Amino acid sequence: MLSKIKLHWQILIALILAVIFGYYTPNLVPYVSWLGVVFLRGLNMVVVPLILSSIISGVASIGSGSNLGRLGMKTLSYYVVTSLIAILTGLFFVNLLQPGVGANLGNAETIQSLPTASTSVSDILIRTIPDNVFDAMAKGQILPVIFFAILFGAFITHIPGKKQEFLVSLFDSIFEVMMKITMFIIRFTPLGVFAIVSKEVAKNSGSLGNIAGSLGIYMLTVLIGLIIHAGIILPLSVKILGKANPYKHFRNMATPLLTAFSTSSSNAALPLSMEAVEHKSGVSNKITSFTLPLGATINMNGTALYECVAVIFIAQAYGINLTAGQQAIVVVTALLAAIGSAGIPMAGLVMMSIVLTAVNLPLEGVGLILAVDRILDMSRTTVNVWGDTCAAVIVAKSEGETLNV
Ligand code: ASP
Repeated sequence: MLSKIKLHWQILIALILAVIFGYYTPNLVPYVSWLGVVFLRGLNMVVVPLILSSIISGVASIGSGSNLGRLGMKTLSYYVVTSLIAILTGLFFVNLLQPGVGANLGNAETIQSLPTASTSVSDILIRTIPDNVFDAMAKGQILPVIFFAILFGAFITHIPGKKQEFLVSLFDSIFEVMMKITMFIIRFTPLGVFAIVSKEVAKNSGSLGNIAGSLGIYMLTVLIGLIIHAGIILPLSVKILGKANPYKHFRNMATPLLTAFSTSSSNAALPLSMEAVEHKSGVSNKITSFTLPLGATINMNGTALYECVAVIFIAQAYGINLTAGQQAIVVVTALLAAIGSAGIPMAGLVMMSIVLTAVNLPLEGVGLILAVDRILDMSRTTVNVWGDTCAAVIVAKSEGETLNV
């Protein structure tokens, strides 16, 4: 009977039940939380072999270097432009609503070990090149794995006929198997979501009282920005640039988006978004394998917007007026922080130290926003993943593909 209900409805029901279960019976949560751990381990298990085989077979089928370059340019430009638009949307609302003005600094949570990160454009570029590709795979570092896979796929086309055919069909076959394993794991999403969300609700429901006042307005500011970006700007880009139906595409993406929301991890949602973009929206493996893994690591529209709002909120709370020049620095460093964030929970919060440092704000400011960070992480991750899938549709259409949306 349950299998008759569509998967995304099952996930939605699991999410609602998890909130009730986690809130009213937090002492029972430890009995189910292992299910969430198992589910996440399953997804993590497939991520590296899935993107490796998918990129190698996809890039090998792209053929010439100039095709690859064109695809790369299109994808990266879309990522940077939409991330910048997201940041500017956040900037607009945080200046309009001024959530931090008059905030009570006494509400700040003290953080034992201050999350810090440092990054620059050259840092990101250097980290892209693995000094040991097996180490990068073992550590689940996506960017260097992508880099290696692109090179491997591109150079497959440079070797003679028989060997080339063998490698292409080998990686195609591995990719098909990985996709089948992914689809098998996806069936357990409702259980995983139930366990993960009930645990988070049980852990965080105590801090719900803090939402009153400035922190609540800050949360609303981020959410309004995210809703406008995800509900208006990205769909418009799908409609205008991709000449596709954003609503239909959105419905196709329900399962990966609900998973992104529940897990707060673009990486965990990646196998599901690859499956949905390819099998539901009809994007070729060539484009899916290029845009989505790259997007999961560097295209974070939601995180970019959040970085900007959070840092300016912190400045407002400390009574520091950021000049237009300083706000411009926030915009640029927020973009960098979003690109540098890994697709895992709380990565954006850790990367915030880059933006805070750039405008001389105290790193302790992070303590002010900690209480509501999980719910914002869930929301921004959903927007991050939605942005990646929109890019896949737009790039596919621009390459002349016929899609189901
Ligand atoms: N959790 C986010 C993601 O996986 C990154 C972040 O913390 O902003 O996309």
